Amino acid sequence: MIVVMKPGSPEAEIIRISKEFEDWGLTPEKIVGKHKVVIGLVGDTASLDRLQIQEISPWIEQVLRVERPFKRASLEFRHGESSEVVVSTPDGPVTFGRDRPVVLIAGPCSVENEEMIVETARRVRAAGARFLRGGAYKPRTSPYSFQGHGESALALLAAAREASGLGIITEVMDTADVEKIAEVADVLQVGARNMHNFALLKKVGSQDKPVLLKRGMSATIDEWLMAAEYILAAGNSNIILCERGIRTFDRKYTRNTLDLSVLPVLRNLTHLPIAIDPSHGTGWSEYVPDMAKAAIAAGADSLMIEVHPNPAKALSDGPQSLTPEAFDRLVGELSVIGKALGRWSKEEVKV
Ligand code: PEP
Ligand code: MN
Repeated sequence: MIVVMKPGSPEAEIIRISKEFEDWGLTPEKIVGKHKVVIGLVGDTASLDRLQIQEISPWIEQVLRVERPFKRASLEFRHGESSEVVVSTPDGPVTFGRDRPVVLIAGPCSVENEEMIVETARRVRAAGARFLRGGAYKPRTSPYSFQGHGESALALLAAAREASGLGIITEVMDTADVEKIAEVADVLQVGARNMHNFALLKKVGSQDKPVLLKRGMSATIDEWLMAAEYILAAGNSNIILCERGIRTFDRKYTRNTLDLSVLPVLRNLTHLPIAIDPSHGTGWSEYVPDMAKAAIAAGADSLMIEVHPNPAKALSDGPQSLTPEAFDRLVGELSVIGKALGRWSKEEVKV
């Protein structure tokens, strides 16, 4: 349920009403929008009468029910207003959001050594990326495949951050690793295979770093948003959803089926910002540019793209990784679409 306050409602009144809701055993959450303040109510609201709530203050404009199972993640919970996720990076804050410039996240699948991660960071930064991606802990299908360098790779990510000014996005797979990864990462990635790891969702929800939540490879949109709801319910409202392709019947020519229809669909369902990962979405570098362009045209707030200085030698996901040159060319093409949509950063980020 949400309680929409009239414009100019006194703060003291919002506090008084919120206390009253607490006394009823509910959890009120104050959401300050561009034009209005909304109090979101979580808890057992089924038996509450909307009109009765309306009575408790003349400053209440409207009381509405949130019908979706994902309450806090729903667009209704913020009365139709999109949310933004502001992430601090060494080069200043970067905002993910619906009316903001598209944020580019680029880097290798995994952190292999210092030279390659620092070089990749510099190159993608020069091309216009604001975040470096790279796994220290890798979820691999086979236990015999490269599993990531773990803790030592975190130090390499820190060095690349320092050298490039980029923010760092890296995956966390285990609740026990959250703190140490959060010391280096500016955004924690929960990967497709862990979208249903509820212990991990609660853990990343109870710390401060923003979370990039990938869609599980067989997850419905509702299941994905319920996973986001776990993070929100634990207290972290800084979530970026990331579509990375789903399993369908035909995987002969692509690794996954990149579901770009999530862009218009999620806009109707949730206020959270949306990223698209065309690298895992297609599995082949030659298909990445077209899907990246389509994603921006369809309204993506961010793109996550795998870039490796030598894809043929990559320890993971080489076939889907762009070279730094190809990434630079792609950004030039993306900028045409981004500018046409009014969603491209005015400052040309070059180093
Ligand atoms: C990755 O980003 O390298 C990764 C493993 O992604 P996903 O969880 O989408 O497979
Ligand atoms: Mn990968």
